[in-house]
Amino acid sequence: MTDTLTGTPPPTVPTAKQDLPAVDTVGETDKKVKAVALLSGGLDSTLAINVIKAQGIDVTALNFSTVFCLCNRSDSCKSEARKVSEALGIPIKVLNITDSFLKIVKKPKHGYGKNMNPCIDCRINMFRMAGEYMSETGASFIITGEVLGQRPMSQRKLAMKIIERESGLEGLVLRPLCAKHLEPTIPEKEGLVDRERLLAIKGRSRKEQMQLADIFEIKDYPCSAGGCLLTDPGFALRIKELFDHDIDSNVKDVSLLKVGRHFRLDGQTKAVVGRNDAENQRLETLARKEDARLHLADMPGPLCLMHGNLTDDNLQSAARLTARFSKAKDMPLVRVVLRRGETEGVLEVPPADPLWAQDRLIARNK
Ligand code: SF4
Repeated sequence: MTDTLTGTPPPTVPTAKQDLPAVDTVGETDKKVKAVALLSGGLDSTLAINVIKAQGIDVTALNFSTVFCLCNRSDSCKSEARKVSEALGIPIKVLNITDSFLKIVKKPKHGYGKNMNPCIDCRINMFRMAGEYMSETGASFIITGEVLGQRPMSQRKLAMKIIERESGLEGLVLRPLCAKHLEPTIPEKEGLVDRERLLAIKGRSRKEQMQLADIFEIKDYPCSAGGCLLTDPGFALRIKELFDHDIDSNVKDVSLLKVGRHFRLDGQTKAVVGRNDAENQRLETLARKEDARLHLADMPGPLCLMHGNLTDDNLQSAARLTARFSKAKDMPLVRVVLRRGETEGVLEVPPADPLWAQDRLIARNK
């Protein structure tokens, strides 16, 4: 619709604080209307909750975390979601869904996005769980911070429909930021939510969200909900390589992909070399009792974790890689300590040749 006097289209978001609807009316009848919000802790989901809360609706947040979440460090998203829920004064439930998600990543019904991100299946899985939580909490609908056209795989109209249908939530997912571009949902039709007070944001520009953040006085918003390792080309290559060799790989195998340089020694065997102290420590934590751990005997250097066939050849290769990525890389022979369970020994090896190492490195740009 266009303003007949000025010829300019109406704004898709309120343009100033005074344009915000007063907190509300809709939910305050005899019984409070309740909604469950998928809260990543990013700006969009935070805004969506603000828009719905402004209608006097009770919101409970649901946050999903997985081994693929880039934001699950203690200083980031998972705690951001908690911070946001605290700031908004709403309860939050955090669910770790790695196990169910890993199965999906291995074989997604709807395929992958640009990298190894099975966004449609991932959303179906999350929505299904959100639907269960909705029934548990007596909520009437789900809200998300999705914006039509913002993400190429899961935020298209057709994909949104598939996700709703396959998660059993047809008509029950309200997307407050782009609702006016979509068909009215059940809560809108039933008058639980005032459609007029929902928004019409579309596309990849973040301008309108920034504008809204100002209006809602949201400062310091964290990563823009893009914190998924499966969209990272380097990580995608590693996980694909892992699945190609071992489709039964588990959460620990996947966690290992986040650390160090990875080398393929044979179909079942990998050596992972830490790149700094933090990675060395992490590798120690991730080591299984059947793995070999190697480090330099005579000076500080990387930790190398070897998993798979611990043959003499492979152990020699791992020792050579350990030496290669240390200060001893130009020495003719390097002493490397090898630990396997309770046993310990020393191997004396020449550092690996750079081209030999490069050839075995699992990396995008070899
Ligand atoms: S980017 Fe990752 S977390 Fe987000 S929908 Fe896609 S697969 Fe799921």
